[in-house]
Amino acid sequence: QRIDKMSGEVVDSNPYSRLMALQRMGIVKDYEQIRNKTVAVVGMGGVGSVAAEMLARCGIGRLLMFDYDHVELANMNRLFFRPEQCGMTKTDAAAQTLAGINPDVALESYTMNITTLEGFEAFKTCLTVAGCPADGRSNGGGKDGSNDGSGGSGRDGDGSALQRAADAVSRVDLVLSCVDNYEARMTINQVCLELGQTWMESGVSEDAVSGHIQVVAPGRTACFACVPPLVVASGIDERTLKREGVCAASLPTTMGIIAGLLVQNTLKYLLSFGQVTQYLGYSSLKDFFPTMDIKPNPGCINLLCGQRQAEWAVGAAERAVAAAAA
Ligand code: ATP
Ligand code: ZN
Repeated sequence: QRIDKMSGEVVDSNPYSRLMALQRMGIVKDYEQIRNKTVAVVGMGGVGSVAAEMLARCGIGRLLMFDYDHVELANMNRLFFRPEQCGMTKTDAAAQTLAGINPDVALESYTMNITTLEGFEAFKTCLTVAGCPADGRSNGGGKDGSNDGSGGSGRDGDGSALQRAADAVSRVDLVLSCVDNYEARMTINQVCLELGQTWMESGVSEDAVSGHIQVVAPGRTACFACVPPLVVASGIDERTLKREGVCAASLPTTMGIIAGLLVQNTLKYLLSFGQVTQYLGYSSLKDFFPTMDIKPNPGCINLLCGQRQAEWAVGAAERAVAAAAA
């Protein structure tokens, strides 16, 4: 117990009591539920690492962290990582820091590239099977490896292949996409469609002054393949857009704000309070925050998305009947 020098009152030094106050004030019905929640953060860069820290400080039960990269001095304009962690893998460095901040969080560090063929399978396994790759680390393909692009619609075959892909059951409550490229987002989209797993996408623009977050719930909202981003729609290869030697801008402010919006939406989703926003944009130059709902595309190129849309429609009809009967 600590005594406030000015008032002489007893100060509650337990961080959990500040979180539990949300319950006393009627914002959250059962805050302690957060101890039973598992979140996977994919991409531990400027947004993902900060999001992971916020979740650890909020008392999340289990945190899975995925990234193929190492901490570099060039990352020091962002929050979270420290110079002495240079050379460590981002997921191991994060696990080290977060274990110190909140030892109650079960941390799983996966250094892997999720877009290679092996990486795709390893990533999916990690989301479905507890204790996957032996000691909580893996090497699902090197950083330079790349798959045949089948993370998207290429995996779709006949109906039975679709069924096999859709059989596994997820062990996480939410996946947060904090990666910085289209290929990795399409991989997360595919794995989450296969698992029927809700995920949240996040992004910060190359000029560092705007960003967005978006909820993707298979069958209920647009998936990442439903509405292709402009770059893809126009047929320009993303890799040719990233000019060699010209680095993208990044600001700790914009990344911190997007991480904050992402984790706020995550808390609302996990603990069922307030309104979970499906799409929230942030344009810092004019402080503009657009929101919108994006409906799934019945003609989505990903056939599994179509299957999820049909399942959602059946479920919605059943829920309506049940509600009418009650
Ligand atoms: P910069 O590109 O400016 O050097 P960065 O690579 O750290 O920075 P961020 O936007 O801060 O980019 O973070 C994105 C993170 O996502 C990075 O840590 C990156 O390693 C990770 N990432 C991107 N693609 C993959 C992938 N296929 N598998 C695993 N991690 C990925
Ligand atoms: Zn779709």
